[in-house]
Amino acid sequence: MYRTHTCGELRLNNAGEKVTLAGWVQKIRKMGGMSFIDLRDRYGITQLVVDESASPDLNTTAEKLGREYVIQATGIVTERTSKNSKILTGDVEIKLSEINLLNASQTPPFTIEDETDGGEEIRAKYRYLDLRRAPLKKALELRHKMAQETRKYLDGIGFIEVETPVLIKSTPEGARDFVVPSRMNPGEFYALPQSPQTFKQLLMVAGYDKYFQIVRCFRDEDLRADRQPEFTQIDCEMSFVEREDILNTFEGMIKALFKNVLGLEMNEQFPRISYADAMKYYGSDKPDIRFGMKITEIKHLTGGKDFAVFDSAEYVGAICVEGAASYTRKQLDEITEWVKRPQVGAKGLVYIRLAEDGIKSSVDKFYTPEDLTAIANETGAKSGDLILVLAGDKKKTQDAMGTLRIEMGNRLGFRKSDHYAPLWVYDFPLLEWDEETQRFYAMHHPFTSPKPEDMGKFYSSNREDIANVCANAYDFVLNGTEIGGGSIRIHDSAVQKRMFEVLGFGSEEADYKFGFIINAFKFGAPPHGGIAFGFDRFCALFGGQETIRDYIAFPKNNAGRDVMLDAPSAIDATQMDELFLKSTVKKS
Ligand code: ASP
Repeated sequence: MYRTHTCGELRLNNAGEKVTLAGWVQKIRKMGGMSFIDLRDRYGITQLVVDESASPDLNTTAEKLGREYVIQATGIVTERTSKNSKILTGDVEIKLSEINLLNASQTPPFTIEDETDGGEEIRAKYRYLDLRRAPLKKALELRHKMAQETRKYLDGIGFIEVETPVLIKSTPEGARDFVVPSRMNPGEFYALPQSPQTFKQLLMVAGYDKYFQIVRCFRDEDLRADRQPEFTQIDCEMSFVEREDILNTFEGMIKALFKNVLGLEMNEQFPRISYADAMKYYGSDKPDIRFGMKITEIKHLTGGKDFAVFDSAEYVGAICVEGAASYTRKQLDEITEWVKRPQVGAKGLVYIRLAEDGIKSSVDKFYTPEDLTAIANETGAKSGDLILVLAGDKKKTQDAMGTLRIEMGNRLGFRKSDHYAPLWVYDFPLLEWDEETQRFYAMHHPFTSPKPEDMGKFYSSNREDIANVCANAYDFVLNGTEIGGGSIRIHDSAVQKRMFEVLGFGSEEADYKFGFIINAFKFGAPPHGGIAFGFDRFCALFGGQETIRDYIAFPKNNAGRDVMLDAPSAIDATQMDELFLKSTVKKS
């Protein structure tokens, strides 16, 4: 038997017991004639002591140990004189009578402790060492718990987990596919799924009315910060449902996760907001509602005062920043510079201060105190508050207002990671017109159903009408991050055909790419809908972290590389030949 206990297990009531532990040497300290060893395993750290009374042999073995050596150690559990309240085993130590060296270790390239001196690159290269550290272990444990609780909940309400293939044909989620050459079908390629979208719909046609899968998806996108080319979804689909059924079912799942993973009871129904209102009040389709600071449209109060910037603007919007009237000129100048950054895209910023000695603004030349008071009243501002105003083209300015609102929320400390504000957003536009390619794109994906009341417009030949069709689609948003998205689907093959036509696919192209699903819909497809949650980000948010990388055992870096494996990499000429491939890239 390698061990009687783990390194996280022993307490004062074990004092006097003879135990054997096995694990990694995290640290050794020598004091006087004694050696103190912190022994680590998955469960914790226990202090081992080799004292003066130990045999010379034991002392010699202890002398030889280094960081990350693997040992088996036997001794008596003893109460510590100086206790360590930071670890659960901190009341005891093991007075050793035996050390068995199981394996030596090279000096690790960084310290394997909660706080490490290793930079990102080196830790990624030695991911298996980084994974020994407690913060990463905690992250993976949380992920495990999330997965188990998800399965438990969905299984409990009759869902069946079905695996779908990874080598498939392109799925239309709007990103680029990763492709795999087929040796047995020369010149042909599989695509890796961007999501199991079409398969889960086919499962509905097959009659499996409640499906889920915790599934890997692949999207070959230009990597933005904190995106992974492969990521995991909780993918779900149901038949004979309307939007409300889906939202209620998955609100139940999310609440169960909050309760069973974080111990948080969420009894209230999650708030719901339409896409149009989300844009109007928060300047975002994924509002962070941990704080208010809603946007107010004030164009009707600003006109006719000869202020050309406002007069010529399609839209003027304001937010009221509570208690910020005391911001200095320097702080306001800095925020003005901030909104002009290309990522925010505003041309300038107007502010109104409701200071103790009266109302003042950066546009006092054009607006009387009465005009400014009218604006203040519209935004709900009171004495001590600061109003920030942006103006311009409607869509862009709303977006900029949304970004500014989040920034002010950050500055004021309103975005605490342990405060959770869930939200459903619904009624997204079905399509987006792209000027450059002169065609419509599906905002969600081409299987999302238009709302029944918009079916007339969907069949219209007028572009404006089509652009205004609303989708029966919804997102789940947590703390300003989109965690889930789904829709009620098209289940009528004629409507599906029309959708492909609107998207500019010729009928042949639609048949070539999606014939299988259009056909399936001819064999009694039930009404159905579903949703998928981004599992990695869900875990990160539950862990109170911004970055998903810590919640993935072996992630890729920002350039999409696995630096531990050094992948992707070239393959040898024989393999290339077998796959009928020729590379145009010359590797030096
Ligand atoms: N397949 C969709 C996605 O990956 C989710 C859904 O519509 O269920 O975003």
